[in-house]
Amino acid sequence: MQKSTRLIVERSHKISTHALKVVNRLSESGFQAYLVGGCIRDILLSRSPKDFDVATNAHPNDVRNLFRNSRIIGRRFRIVHVRFGREIVEVTTFRGPHEEQYEANHSESGMTLSDNIYGTFEEDVFRRDFAMNAIYYQPGTKELIDLTDGATDIQKQIIRTIGSPDDRFREDPVRMLRAIRFQAKLGFMIEESAARAIRSLSFLIQDVAPARLFEEVLKLFMFGYGLQSFEALLDHDIYGRLFPDSKRAMENSSAKQLIRLVLSSTDKRIANTLPTTPAFIYAAILWQPFIIEKQRLEAAGVALINASHEAATNVISKQLLFTSIPRRFSGPMRDIWFLQFRLPKRRGKKTDILLEHKRFRAAYDFLILREEAGEKTAGLGAWWTRYQEADEATRQTMKESINKK
Ligand code: ATP
Ligand code: MG
Repeated sequence: MQKSTRLIVERSHKISTHALKVVNRLSESGFQAYLVGGCIRDILLSRSPKDFDVATNAHPNDVRNLFRNSRIIGRRFRIVHVRFGREIVEVTTFRGPHEEQYEANHSESGMTLSDNIYGTFEEDVFRRDFAMNAIYYQPGTKELIDLTDGATDIQKQIIRTIGSPDDRFREDPVRMLRAIRFQAKLGFMIEESAARAIRSLSFLIQDVAPARLFEEVLKLFMFGYGLQSFEALLDHDIYGRLFPDSKRAMENSSAKQLIRLVLSSTDKRIANTLPTTPAFIYAAILWQPFIIEKQRLEAAGVALINASHEAATNVISKQLLFTSIPRRFSGPMRDIWFLQFRLPKRRGKKTDILLEHKRFRAAYDFLILREEAGEKTAGLGAWWTRYQEADEATRQTMKESINKK
């Protein structure tokens, strides 16, 4: 038995029983079905897979008919989600070679495709992004198919595109971000010609739909290796393609340090299974651009009370051209920003109203990280820390001493 097959068999307890159920039922119904992608890569690395992907020659309607708990998603390329409680097993029909290209360039158009988008098993292998992501496993027969020698790459910790990096990144520029994400997540090296291609082709990111980029940003920053992702994006000189204003603002300020601190705090929270939100990360990424814009507006004579709101709107609208930010995140992000200007105002009742604000905690955490990043706030964070811990009488004295100033 091949070494990697043996590893998979030994670690098969890491395979979700639901994913096994899906593969087995497809096979029993006469279809080819395999576990593929990140789940097999992660098991070979002794890691616990995040999710399970199944590749099959069954068409989406066949899959839909086999599983009551399933639904077809995606208008252009239909995949089937089979749901087991909170777990979703993603079942994808073998794709032909041109699908990714189509998706990358036409993602918003919603045109329907003809049926010939489906491919053979071999085509499905070679349309995948990296060799390490193209290993197939059939749990029933314990057969492992590795046509691109991905197992060797995993052993050598190398991220290598299947085919020419140039062609594969042009076909779908998001693959550049995926390479960087895997570098951050797995600690692998992006193979040299691929790293060079990223440098010369990073501008293609501008052609990707903002909604798709937002999804990628979440994967980069919200899965426990955000700081590493940030450093890798900077190293490969592609960060500015996602966040041009943030990149520019980082040149001479504490902006970079704030982003680092926020990402590392998010990573720690994820490690401790505490809740996190993209609003907090976006607030950090765009904080300095927001401040710069606010100052520009104020210098141009915009009234103080309007400057914050206008600056936030301008900075966010500009960012939306690159990565979308759903309203459920941009709202809280504005709150976090605006509260930074209210936190210094600690007079009378206002103080306790602030404390009750639903975004106080996030705003306070943000303030502390701003200070840690080197922003000067005259001890504001420490004041709020003490205030939260103080009893009523002490709070009264603290407020009064502010009033006297
Ligand atoms: P993760 O651990 O983040 O889930 P993953 O490799 O499983 O990593 P998914 O986004 O779940 O990533 O994709 C599943 C598989 O689909 C990949 O392993 C890869 O084979 C293929 N794939 C995903 N996105 C692309 C792409 N843009 N181009 C080519 N193949 C892709
Ligand atoms: Mg996956």
